Amino acid sequence: MADAKRALITGITGQDGGHLAALLHEKGYEVFGLIRGQNNPRREQVVAEFPFVTLIEGDLIDPTSLVRAVEVSDPHELYNLAAISHVGYSFKNPTLTADVTAKGVLNVLEAVRITGRAQHTRVYQASTSEMFGGLDYNRPGAGYNENSLFHPRSPYGVAKLYGHWIAKNYRESYDMFVACGILFNHEGERRGVEFVTRKITHAVARIKLGLQPNIELGDLWPKRDWGYAGDFVEGMWRMLQHTEPDDFVLATGETHSIEEFLTLAFAEIGIDDWKPYVVQNPAFMRPAEVDILLGDPTKAEQVLGWKRKVDFPGLVKLMVEHDLADQARKAAIA
Ligand code: GDP
Repeated sequence: MADAKRALITGITGQDGGHLAALLHEKGYEVFGLIRGQNNPRREQVVAEFPFVTLIEGDLIDPTSLVRAVEVSDPHELYNLAAISHVGYSFKNPTLTADVTAKGVLNVLEAVRITGRAQHTRVYQASTSEMFGGLDYNRPGAGYNENSLFHPRSPYGVAKLYGHWIAKNYRESYDMFVACGILFNHEGERRGVEFVTRKITHAVARIKLGLQPNIELGDLWPKRDWGYAGDFVEGMWRMLQHTEPDDFVLATGETHSIEEFLTLAFAEIGIDDWKPYVVQNPAFMRPAEVDILLGDPTKAEQVLGWKRKVDFPGLVKLMVEHDLADQARKAAIA
């Protein structure tokens, strides 16, 4: 039997890292994960949930640690998912965001190149719909595609745009297989509660169980193209199996407001009027907002044969059901 393919995932403790590790393991890969920091509190969780992952200590802002991680894992495929990934946080920590989310990509690419693996390791770069910015003049009716203009509206979006272009530059300069996935918002049961969808489903479950009275949110009108993260990591994998490196938008092709998300989430617990349970708090509003994001996944569907499976109501239901069970279990232990 041929040796198993090896994959290195940066951002193994994040939402997509978990989904991707499970997918690659299922496909027979030997999976390595880069883990940051001394005593990372999320290490234990990764070890418990994904015992098959070999963890390697390293940090996107430490180039030598990346060289070592690439040498140890000698990967056929490297998925660069690590980043400071929260838009709100990036306004408060813009320099760190630039160091990790922008320059970190360069450090990863250099680690592959200087260890002589430019022609051996296929690289996936996690680009984002936040690079588009959602401004009126920049919004095509059918949704953003791979040719749409970029106009990022946050330090996170700006940093990701550097990552996107340096990835393309290494593809063109060194003939490296570097694919960029421009992913629209993707959520699920692994999403952090700092993101609005999980914050809502987590709170809805706790309201149902009498554990909290209400939820504090910022603006409710922004619209997002929300898909399921489990579907999206499959698209990442497909990008690295394609004959050539390219850019692909992954999205659902639908956009919904936070109000719509609230309506479906509260309906899952039998509440039709959610207004009494939602408190608006300016602390959760942003200096610059992305009004609406809508992606056009036609290229990924036609070229990669990728299609999302979970639709918007299915996503809300899956997340509320997960959080109801999870919160009930935690309340029983406490
Ligand atoms: P983003 O699209 O990557 O910024 O994902 P988020 O889930 O963090 O935010 C999605 C949208 O929800 C943005 O327009 C936020 O301004 C809006 N929003 C409203 N209230 C909240 C809140 O309490 N937390 C977060 N994270 N976002 C909120």
